[in-house]
Amino acid sequence: MSQYSTLKVGGPAEAIISVTNIEDLKRLIQWLKENDISWWIIGRGSNILVPDHGLPGVAIVLAGEFVSIEKLGNQPGQKEKSTSLRIGGGCLLAKLVHDCTTNSLSGLEFAVGIPGSIGGAVVMNAGAWGYEIGNLLDSVTLMDNHGEVFTEQGKNLGFTYRGWGVEPNTIVLYATIILTISSKEEIKAACRRYQELRIKNQPLTEPSAGSFFKNPPKMSAGRLIDQAGLKGHSIGGAKISGKHANFIINTGNASATDILDLMRLVQDTVYKRFGVRLEPEVHILGDKKHKS
Ligand SMILES: Cc1cc2nc3c(=O)[nH]c(=O)nc-3n(C[C@H](O)[C@H](O)[C@H](O)COP(=O)(O)OP(=O)(O)OC[C@H]3O[C@@H](n4cnc5c(N)ncnc54)[C@H](O)[C@@H]3O)c2cc1C
Repeated sequence: MSQYSTLKVGGPAEAIISVTNIEDLKRLIQWLKENDISWWIIGRGSNILVPDHGLPGVAIVLAGEFVSIEKLGNQPGQKEKSTSLRIGGGCLLAKLVHDCTTNSLSGLEFAVGIPGSIGGAVVMNAGAWGYEIGNLLDSVTLMDNHGEVFTEQGKNLGFTYRGWGVEPNTIVLYATIILTISSKEEIKAACRRYQELRIKNQPLTEPSAGSFFKNPPKMSAGRLIDQAGLKGHSIGGAKISGKHANFIINTGNASATDILDLMRLVQDTVYKRFGVRLEPEVHILGDKKHKS
C-alpha cells in the first residue's frame, strides 16, 4: 500500500480493486459483505496511514465514471452568477481546481495544493485558509455498505473540523458543488498566493500526509509540538519536519511503525507538557473493520 499513500509506507492489502461504475461497485460491496471481507476506499492516499502488516481485506479505488466532472450550470433557485458541478468521488482536487480556473469558477481556490480526491476531501471536510469543502456542497450521492445508493443534502452531512457525521463505511460516489462565475485573473492570483504560502511554510518535497494532528480548539498543534522541543526529532526514518512541526515526514526509509511511534511520542510529550491530547487528523487504516 506504500504506493497508494503519500507517506510512502504500509504493507500489502489482500487485494486492490479499481472500480469504474456504480453497478460494479454495488455488486462488489454486496459480495464483500456476503463473504464477510473487510474493505477500505482509498482516494489519493494523502491522509491515510497503513500499518506495516497491511490491510486484512480489499482496498477499493474509484476510477472510470468516478473521475468525471459534469457541468450542470445555473440551477433553479440559484443566484444569477452561481453554477453547479457534479464531480466523481475519485476525481483529483488538482484537476478540479484547474478546470474551475479555466472556466472562471471561483470557490475552490483554497484547495490548491491539497493532494486529495473529491471523495477524500468530503470525508475529511478538507479545508485551508478559513475555507472548507463542506460549505460548497449542494448534495452528495453516497453508497452504503449494503450497496444502496442515496443522495443527501450537504447541510445534512454533519460536517465538523476535518470530519463528517456519516457512517465510516459510506462511499462518496459524486458531489455536487456550487461555485460562482468570477474573474479568471482574480482566481489565478488567489491560487498563486495560496500556493506560495504552502511552498514557504510546508515541507512539500518530502513524503507526508500534510498536517498530522488536528488543531485543538483555539490552539495550533504545530506550535505545541514546536514548544515541546520536538521539531526535527526522529524515530527511525520518521521525522518531525524542521519547517512545520505538524508535518511528520518520511526521510526515505520510514516504516509505518516508526511513524506511529513518533505520533505516540508527540502525543505523550505534548500531554505531559501542556495537558492537551493531540488527535491525529490522519486516518489510521486497518485497526478496525469497515463493514457492519
Ligand atoms: C502536502 C499535503 C498538504 C495537505 N494540505 C491539506 C490542507 O491544506 N487541508 C486539508 O484539509 N488537508 C490537507 N492534506 C490532507 C489531505 O490531502 C486531505 O485530507 C484530502 O482531502 C484527502 O483526500 P484523499 O483522496 O487523499 O483521501 P485518502 O487519504 O485516500 O482517504 C482519507 C479518508 O477518506 C476515505 N475516503 C477517500 N475517498 C473516499 C470516498 N470516495 N468515499 C468514502 N471514503 C473515502 C478513506 O477511506 C480515508 O478514511 C494535505 C496532505 C498533504 C500530503
